[in-house]
Parts: sequence; structure tokens; C-alpha cells
Amino acid sequence: MLHTVSNFDRIGEENAFAVLARATALAQSGRDIINLGIGQPDFSTPGHIVEAAIKALRDGHHGYTPATGLLATREAVVRRMLSTTGVEISPDNVMIMPGGKPTMYAAIVLFGEPGTDILYPDPGFPIYRSMIEYTGARPVPVPIREENGFAFSADETLSLLTPATRLLILNSPANPTGGVTPRAEIEKLVAGLADFPDVAILSDEIYDVMTYDGEEHCSLLTFPEIRDRLILLNGWSKTWAMTGWRMGWSIWPNSTESGHLYDKVRKLAVNCWSCVNAPSQFAGIAAIDGPQDEVQKMMQAFDRRRKTVVEGLNSLDGVSCATPKGAFYAFPNIAGTGRKAKKLASDLLEETGVALIGGPDFGVHGEGYIRLSYANSEENILRAIDRIGSFLTR
Ligand code: PLP
Repeated sequence: MLHTVSNFDRIGEENAFAVLARATALAQSGRDIINLGIGQPDFSTPGHIVEAAIKALRDGHHGYTPATGLLATREAVVRRMLSTTGVEISPDNVMIMPGGKPTMYAAIVLFGEPGTDILYPDPGFPIYRSMIEYTGARPVPVPIREENGFAFSADETLSLLTPATRLLILNSPANPTGGVTPRAEIEKLVAGLADFPDVAILSDEIYDVMTYDGEEHCSLLTFPEIRDRLILLNGWSKTWAMTGWRMGWSIWPNSTESGHLYDKVRKLAVNCWSCVNAPSQFAGIAAIDGPQDEVQKMMQAFDRRRKTVVEGLNSLDGVSCATPKGAFYAFPNIAGTGRKAKKLASDLLEETGVALIGGPDFGVHGEGYIRLSYANSEENILRAIDRIGSFLTR
């Protein structure tokens, strides 16, 4: 009998991957499956980005890079942050990471230990809670409410902070709700955080440019008063349809007051993954500096599907769906169907071939909701709505 450390008994999962595996197995057995489960753009990475990686390999970029990432890639991130937020950062605060998740992991293991609290959005990305549990810190859910437009509430968040709180995790635009927190609410939160100077903030802004109807994304980076305790998570996965490349970036303070966070995460990289593979880092530069027309086309397609999915869901008995303002998820309220969300999600997959995720997979406040990723064709979305509708009237 082997004895692994007890932390691993508390580690969780991202059920979207389990649903993907089940949906793939059903499809392989000949079933007609419509996958609205996984949060992955169904578009190809734009060609010029792929070419940049191929060229990098041909040019001999086969070796290690600095653990923090190539300077040229970090400088590209600096240009990107200037264009999306108007804030000029230094490449010396940028980490190139193997995806978005490793930043989450690094931030949570840097601050979490028994006796401490970490606040995280619920419903929210499931890995936040899983990693908090892993560290032994107390996971404190910040409820994300439909009546609040799925934005986080500054007052409610501030009311949950205690002397034990080490880290506050924020996410806007949000998975799984598609909620976007307005600037005024974020300003209020930042003002309130002045009373809690020892709390670090992890702002997951991976869907930063994925907003609709002119909705403005407000980056936490635009608040200089918290810069010394802000970790900003972003990456290439969603914006440029690059989920499989494992390319993310994060911005870390490195001041004495911050406890030299950047240096700590650099050391973690040296210990765990050395660096991100070189050709992907060249692809990352091409993504940032190259033409954005394919990104715009992808967003236009998401916008059309968003309307289709919301209209379709609202036509179903017992279902009501708020219009998501960002990301590419719809999070309909299914309480009126009288069904439990996880059971409904698994019945829909097994019986109708529609893969989606039950709200409780994103936290206790997700009961009464299901998540549909509209990273699928309009035709398939309509077929899925049709199947869900027939199932609900059975
Ligand atoms: N943060 C949020 C809110 C996400 O939804 C996801 C992916 O679904 C990630 C981070 C992880 O991104 P990556 O695939 O780059 O690790």
C-alpha cells in the first residue's frame, strides 16, 4: 500500500473534461453527440500563428528559454496590455506560463495553507476551489447571483474578508455565467480593499476581450493602488483559439512589499516546468502582433450563437436564460423544470446526446443552473435546443 500525501485526497476535478471524455466515447460508439460541454473555441488557430511556430522550429528554436519566457514574448505581452488596458507594464513583471491554469496553481499555492482563507467566485471555475482545498486553506465562496447580472458584488465580497484572508480570486468576464462586472462595482471593491492591505488579488481575465453589446471589460490592472498585490491571469487559449498550445501569461508584482512574488513564481517554474516550449512562444508573439481579423470573425460568430442559444433556451418551459455579456457560455436557470441540474445534465447526455455541464460542478451556488458552451455551430445549437425541449416535455 502506497501512502500519498493527504492534500491529494482533497484535490478536485474539472468535470467538463469528464463530460468531454464521456461524449467522445458515446460518439465513438456511433451516437450523434452535440457537444456544448467544453469551454474551447471550435475555430482553428489562425494560420499565421501556426506558421510562426513552424518557422521558429525551422529556425532552430528547439531549446530551453528563460523560465520567465522569452523577452520578445514578454515584450509582446507588454504591447498587448497597453493596447487592451492603456497600462504600461514592464516585461520584468510578465511570466509566460504553460496555459492559464498554472497561474491559478502558482497563486493559490503561494498563499494557501491551513489556517488561512481564500475567497473565490461560486459559481466559478472549479479549479479555484480544488486548488484551495489542496493547500489546506479554507475555501470561502463569494456567491455570484443572477439577480446581480452574474457580476460579483463589492459589498458581499468585502463582507467575507477576515484577518485570515490571504487571497481574493476574481473573474470577469466569467466562466460559467458569462457575467461581466461593471467598472463601478470594481471601483467600489478596490476602494474597500484599502482596509485590507494584506490581501492579495488574483484577477482571472482570460476572457478580457470576449464581451458583447459594447460591454466594457474593466481590468484590475487599471488600479495602481493595488498593483503591488495584484496577480493578473490571462493567456492565448480563448482569444486566439489556442487551448492546446498551453500558452498563458501572468503579471506579478516584484516589490519588497509584495514579498517578491515574481521571483517566487519564477523559481516555481524552474522547479516544475523549466519554461514554455519555444515555438509556442513565437506563435504567441504572432498572435499578439499579427492581424486580428479572424479573432473578430470568431467573436461575431459567438455573438450570433449567443442570441440563438438565449432565444432558444427562453422558449423552453421552465427555463429562463439571462443574456450573457461575455465569454462564450450561457447559464440558464432551470429551477422551473423541477429537475436537479446535475441529473438533468447527465440525462441529457445519455438520453439525447447533448453534452453540457450541471451548475453544481461550478459550486454550490450553481444548483438550479446548467452551463452551455456555445462553441458549436448555430445549426447544432438549434438541434440541441430542440432535443432539450423534447426531453423536458417527456
Ligand atoms: N480561467 C478561466 C475562467 C477559464 O474558463 C479557463 C478555461 O476554461 C482557464 C482559466 C484556463 O485556461 P487554460 O486552458 O489556458 O489553462
